[in-house]
Amino acid sequence: MSQVGCVVTHWIVGNEQDKGIPNAQSKNRIRNHMRRYSAFAIAREGARYHTGWERAWKSPEPKKRYDAIIVGAGGHGLATAYYLGKNHGIKNVAILEKGWLGGGNTGRNTTIIRSNYLQDPSAAIYEKARSLYETMSQDLNYNVMFSPRGVMMLAQTEHEIRGYERTAHANALQGVATEFISPQRVKELVPIINIHGPRYPVLGALWQPRGGTARHDAVAWGYARACSNMGMDIIQQCEVTGVRRDGDKVIGVDTTKGSIDCDKLGVVVAGHSGVLADMAGFRLPIESVALQALVSEPIKPCMDVVVMANTVHGYMSQSDKGEMVIGGGADGYNNYTQRGSFHHIEETVRALVETFPMISRLKMLRQWGGIVDMTGDRSPIISKTPVENMFINCGWGTGGFKAIPGSGWAMAELMAKGASPLADEFTMWRFGEGKFIDESVAAGVAH
Ligand SMILES: Cc1cc2nc3c(=O)[nH]c(=O)nc-3n(C[C@H](O)[C@H](O)[C@H](O)COP(=O)(O)OP(=O)(O)OC[C@H]3O[C@@H](n4cnc5c(N)ncnc54)[C@H](O)[C@@H]3O)c2cc1C
Repeated sequence: MSQVGCVVTHWIVGNEQDKGIPNAQSKNRIRNHMRRYSAFAIAREGARYHTGWERAWKSPEPKKRYDAIIVGAGGHGLATAYYLGKNHGIKNVAILEKGWLGGGNTGRNTTIIRSNYLQDPSAAIYEKARSLYETMSQDLNYNVMFSPRGVMMLAQTEHEIRGYERTAHANALQGVATEFISPQRVKELVPIINIHGPRYPVLGALWQPRGGTARHDAVAWGYARACSNMGMDIIQQCEVTGVRRDGDKVIGVDTTKGSIDCDKLGVVVAGHSGVLADMAGFRLPIESVALQALVSEPIKPCMDVVVMANTVHGYMSQSDKGEMVIGGGADGYNNYTQRGSFHHIEETVRALVETFPMISRLKMLRQWGGIVDMTGDRSPIISKTPVENMFINCGWGTGGFKAIPGSGWAMAELMAKGASPLADEFTMWRFGEGKFIDESVAAGVAH
């Protein structure tokens, strides 16, 4: 698949044009406005040896003060900044990232997008996100390779049949298009599957035809470029080391690049949310664990839907490069190690091999891990905090890639207006109040 989105143009005028070097005037214009990607731009650059592409986002030094600071340049942080600018006109924004943008879970996940959750608040935010994915490439002018190829969750026990039929009914009421399909239909959609497994035969599946995948890095890069284009500062290699308060109110952050003031602070750091909350002086009901995945060597196209098998605990899709992308489990103990381990490969492949016998002959190419932030009810937190003007977005656990645009939309609204209908139920105080949004079934397999 071609990726129009990975190319950028210089704005070249006057005498410098022949040399392909932007002059001072053109540099200013680059600073204020990036040119749109298009087939025409590719053809033009092809004709002049690709000398005119510009960097996709700027790398400025931090200013002394911003209207809003977002900590964490993962998908959720970048999307928050983007919708702050696009929907609410707040553009004096810095996004601070301790590593490189998209280098956290956003660049480590298995890219599954779906919205077939059980509870109404979840269906609302995940379906908002899924619908934004449908038009994200056009909205950002960046090819995020959204591929609505369909996602199925296999029912391999009687209990799962009841659970997924219930979800399909709930989704019908919520306006989320899903259906419960027969084993024969599963086989039609996934010819490589073995539906007669002796231990766990396939008894049906919850099918979401407009679920699918997107290119995870491209989602981060697309938002980053759009934020930079709005004049926002994305500052990489800039770790937040302290949260500065005046009484109960946030006034800025300390970073490895100095202190920066802000009116509002949004913390969107996934597995490090507890660390940032600690800096601000409060606790979060979050546990951090490593979640792992692996890919096989590339093979010819053999499966064009995403299949999740929650009972045996594994899921699989095929990437555009041909690799089988396989998701495994989370570590059974809290940790901050962003790496894979051998026993997870063995457990996950063993779990899937009965349902997909052909994977027993595949070579595995690489494995990795990311630090995910788990809440007790497996639902996220998008919330005000005990510190005035400090907001937190976390708890997406094993399944937040799919939520990025919806989460950013809601978090931006919460930061700009003090409330968001999409975020209302996801406060951090629901755990004390017993108002859980239980999604342990929908999040049954780590994805
Ligand atoms: C192996 C694996 C598979 C997954 N599969 C799926 C899937 O198929 N579908 C799905 O929907 N979800 C999936 N997920 C979950 C999904 O990846 C995450 O929920 C989502 O990416 C979280 O995005 P984020 O922007 O909140 O976090 P991140 O992308 O982790 O971004 C947080 C950023 O904050 C930065 N940061 C942390 N501390 C500081 C600090 N002190 N100062 C500055 N910056 C800081 C980090 O460096 C990081 O870049 C998977 C996760 C993993 C690990």
